[in-house]
Amino acid sequence: MTRERFERIKKFAADKETPCLVIDLDVIKQKYEELRTHLPFAKIFYAVKANPTDEVVALLRDLGASFDVATRFELDQLLRLGVAPDRMSFGNTIKKEKDIAYFYEKGVRLYVTDSPTDLDKISRAAPGSKVFFRLLTEGLGADWPLSKKFGSHPDLARQLIKMSVRFGLVPYGISFHPGSQQRDVGQWSTALTQVAQLFRWAKEEAHVELKMINMGGGFPANYVESTDPIAQYSEDIQRFLDTSFKFMGRWPEEIIIEPGRSMAGDSGVIVAEIVNIAKKSVHERYPWVFLDIGKFGGLIETLDEAIKYPIYFEAQGKAQSIIIAGPTCDSMDILYEKWTYTMPDKAKIGDRVYILTTGAYTQSYSSIYFNGFPPLKAYVLK
Ligand SMILES: *Cc1c(COP(=O)(O)O)cnc(C)c1O
Repeated sequence: MTRERFERIKKFAADKETPCLVIDLDVIKQKYEELRTHLPFAKIFYAVKANPTDEVVALLRDLGASFDVATRFELDQLLRLGVAPDRMSFGNTIKKEKDIAYFYEKGVRLYVTDSPTDLDKISRAAPGSKVFFRLLTEGLGADWPLSKKFGSHPDLARQLIKMSVRFGLVPYGISFHPGSQQRDVGQWSTALTQVAQLFRWAKEEAHVELKMINMGGGFPANYVESTDPIAQYSEDIQRFLDTSFKFMGRWPEEIIIEPGRSMAGDSGVIVAEIVNIAKKSVHERYPWVFLDIGKFGGLIETLDEAIKYPIYFEAQGKAQSIIIAGPTCDSMDILYEKWTYTMPDKAKIGDRVYILTTGAYTQSYSSIYFNGFPPLKAYVLK
């Protein structure tokens, strides 16, 4: 985020009670355009869960995005905002049959699957729909891996492809998610190699013409640890597509990406306050700095210090190492103690603290009443 945008947010938040999240919609627009510029061949399905704020969804609707929808509640929200069902996929592998029926009734015809039982439900509740098969990935190199829980081994994917034909569904494509905040672009190469092998197998052995690759999210936001620019991701991914699909002489017809974090992350700043600064003993080296926001207020991705948000203190002075913790009465509500954050030594209780790159996976994660704290309030700057 530029200095100018940050100053605008600070000014806007000056009279607001903390903690709060301020979202700058222009940044989301820029991120969308950046993806369109660098990956013009890919259709964007925004992963709604990253930031489901109405204004964010409406902006992306107007910009022409499609949406990766995880529940019937998100579906209802999108329909209320006037998004057409042919711009949505039901992208959650874990779904009740009655929810699939609801999506079908509302007009959604694109479903992910990774198990025979789920495919069975889709065949009954969404007859004739397009299905895509999610592959298991390891999530190596990702700060927030999504490994293990989603997807199937290619062996099982082959069975599912055959089953889908028997069930009268349309086997449409293969998906994977390389792991969120994936800093190793090489992970797309590994996955695309597997995808290409399945395309080849489907054509030669099952006489099924797959058409679509869904390359998931995983594109980075700007946290403490640096990443390559999106231009580099794009260049590498295009090279991987060339290599893995050489046997077809062209790329698959439809290529989808599902950015969540990279679309919304950089747009948000959490404005917080220092509640206390204290040491546990006279000899302790680092002071504890307690903020009015923590793991339960929206910063759950600090689990294992996986996501390291840039934190900005306004005070001047010499940088001193600190431990940062949240305000609740739960001992796991510590944000950072291994990774060394610093604070200017003139910082004091009551000062404002700005936690940057908090536009994704914060407000939607905040608890509703733990210790009586209300959910994280969000403001949208147009
Ligand atoms: C969460 C999710 C995404 C978004 O991933 P990011 O790494 O935040 O971009 C994309 N696709 C699916 C299926 C998801 O579950």
